[in-house]
Amino acid sequence: MAQAATQITSVRMWPAQDYTRVTLETREPVRYKLLSLKDPERLVLDLEEVDITATLTSLPEKVGADDPYVKGVRIGRFKPGVVRLVFDLKSEVKPQAFTLAPIGDYGYRLVLDLYPLEPPDPLLAFLDRLQGQREESPGGAGPEQTAPGPARQPAPKARPTPKKPEVARLIIVAVDAGHGGEDPGARGRGGTYEKNVTLAIAKKLKARADQEPNMRAVLIRDGDYFMPLQMRIAKARRIRADLFVSIHADAFIKPNARGSSVFALSERGATSTAAQWLAKRENEADLIGGVNLDVPDPYLKQTLLDLSQTATINDSLKLARAVLSELGSINALHKPQVEQAGFAVLKSPDIPSILVETAFISNPEEERKLRSGPHQEKVSEAIFVGIKRYFANNPPLARERLVQNP
Ligand SMILES: [Zn+2]
Repeated sequence: MAQAATQITSVRMWPAQDYTRVTLETREPVRYKLLSLKDPERLVLDLEEVDITATLTSLPEKVGADDPYVKGVRIGRFKPGVVRLVFDLKSEVKPQAFTLAPIGDYGYRLVLDLYPLEPPDPLLAFLDRLQGQREESPGGAGPEQTAPGPARQPAPKARPTPKKPEVARLIIVAVDAGHGGEDPGARGRGGTYEKNVTLAIAKKLKARADQEPNMRAVLIRDGDYFMPLQMRIAKARRIRADLFVSIHADAFIKPNARGSSVFALSERGATSTAAQWLAKRENEADLIGGVNLDVPDPYLKQTLLDLSQTATINDSLKLARAVLSELGSINALHKPQVEQAGFAVLKSPDIPSILVETAFISNPEEERKLRSGPHQEKVSEAIFVGIKRYFANNPPLARERLVQNP
């Protein structure tokens, strides 16, 4: 049987500080070999039995000057039956190549992820600086006895701080724009992608929170790239976020479904079939976005619920109620109460976490609103006011240190 060469149907690049992803999409799986070369740093990806088509040769044009890791791509026939892609790098990377089986609208995908040797952490640097400047909350209660973790040092004595507001320490809010990159999320009839709406609202929420003197928001993703759900949790924990807000705008089969809803994690089953269905869809993000299953999940431990989860869920519910009631003043509510289900992205054992469905992108009227800057502003303001109300009633505990040094 004569072997026909495979056509590459689409090539995509998703540059980001966290990692740069290259995706080659095909109708059949492609055999490949990956090797790293030094002096200068390069990655070589050899593809067996593929045609050099205009689609493939468009890849070099997709390398942006601001790509953190890739300088350029060269493509050529290496030997009969092998096409060679050479990625010229800006610095040494940790590469991973893997294939994904067809799912959703995608065919087979050959994915090349370029990770930095050290994960970038602008916030950690920021917190390190800040740590030198700020002290513990004057309440000085120190961590609760029940706090998890290894044997604790005695909490430092609170300095006599005359007449300061009750919350002196910085509150860090992790703002998670749902979906991104290879995972577009839901799509409105007018062509709006959930991933773009969530990022726009997330950026507005961050800008609003950063105006508060004792609050800083950190975007879990700040561009159009895919982040696995576990990586989102890991990032929130690395920055020691006080809470985690995941922003979404999902779809339903019926175009008349409308309104905002807010969700928290459930340890036992979902509070409704709709919530269960939604959590299942959200958890599929990793399948659509594409996670390398051959690499043992370094965050696996963190998905296991521990004793502290119940307390965290109680706090999540308080936060969710505060945010839901604020959203009710700017939009119809899909359900008048907070719902719970097994959302993977809400499983931080120690960070109160909520998932906000800002509106239904599948509803043409709500899709229009979601695209509008002023409406995005209102949504982010409502979430922000909810967060503030939550902290007014549940002041954060003092921290021994803002950053846990290794
Ligand atoms: Zn979503």
